[in-house]
Amino acid sequence: MDLQLKGKRALVTGSSSGIGAGIARLLAEEGCDVVVHGRNSDKAEAVAESIRSTGGRCAIALGDLSTNAGADAVAQAATAAFGSIDILINNAGGSSGGSASDWWDVTEDQWVQTHEMNAVAAARMVKRLLPGMKKQGWGRIVQIASAAGTQPIPMGPDYGATKAAMINMTVSLAKALGDCGVTSNCISPGAVLTPAVEHWVTSLAEKEGFSDLPFEEQEKRVASRMAPTLLGRIGRTDDIAMAVCMVVSPRMNYMTGANIRVDGGQVQSIN
Ligand code: NAD
Repeated sequence: MDLQLKGKRALVTGSSSGIGAGIARLLAEEGCDVVVHGRNSDKAEAVAESIRSTGGRCAIALGDLSTNAGADAVAQAATAAFGSIDILINNAGGSSGGSASDWWDVTEDQWVQTHEMNAVAAARMVKRLLPGMKKQGWGRIVQIASAAGTQPIPMGPDYGATKAAMINMTVSLAKALGDCGVTSNCISPGAVLTPAVEHWVTSLAEKEGFSDLPFEEQEKRVASRMAPTLLGRIGRTDDIAMAVCMVVSPRMNYMTGANIRVDGGQVQSIN
């Protein structure tokens, strides 16, 4: 199926690593002109180079999205790269103190910082890029939230709360947009095998005495205990990128305000 993404201009925030890099690569493979965003130019350049080496078109925008000035710089560079932005993927984020931090260890400053780098960063980019999308009468906005947004865990309360905010923002934005041609949707990944999660698996295997097993076996054991999925494995960046390509396709024009779980069945609720 042709997703009709050829020539669409996409900004993927936080795409110098992990899930964002996977999304940027797959959108480029589908024919999008992609703006790779990061805070470190070497890392962003490495992802951009991997896209160019397979024939994709891409540019780089650098900046810290937890500040207005950083968001201004990113929006300006991204818009200048290909003339406008049609697709915004708000993927940048994480937890200021680590998503495994205990409730009582998270400081007030960390609560604020985590919210700044997730929900507020996403709102900053919507404010800056939405006017261009509305003017051209077409656009796609996707928030990358988390399973922790609908299924809270005892650790990282600041992280789960700010991801819940992103799911809520998705619906509020969809209502504000109505039928202007721009849709607002959210994708909530379960655990995904990025370098940080890989490190988590291997350190747990070390701690619990099964580090001699092949990685796939360590992954299965960790997945079954810490983040049980119906599919018995941790997600891959491509699993999330596939969902993004589907949601941002011009053919997907009757879905807005949705939260799509891509978690191998990790979240134990109807939705
Ligand atoms: P990652 O650390 O590889 O990617 C996060 C990216 O966001 C990095 O490039 C980082 O530099 C960028 N970023 C963070 N704060 C920023 C800021 N203030 N300004 C600019 N850039 C900033 O981690 P990842 O696992 O690929 O995470 C990508 C997204 O997916 C995050 O929003 C994360 O919360 C979400 N997520 C990840 C998982 C997982 O298991 N890996 C699960 C659910 C949701």
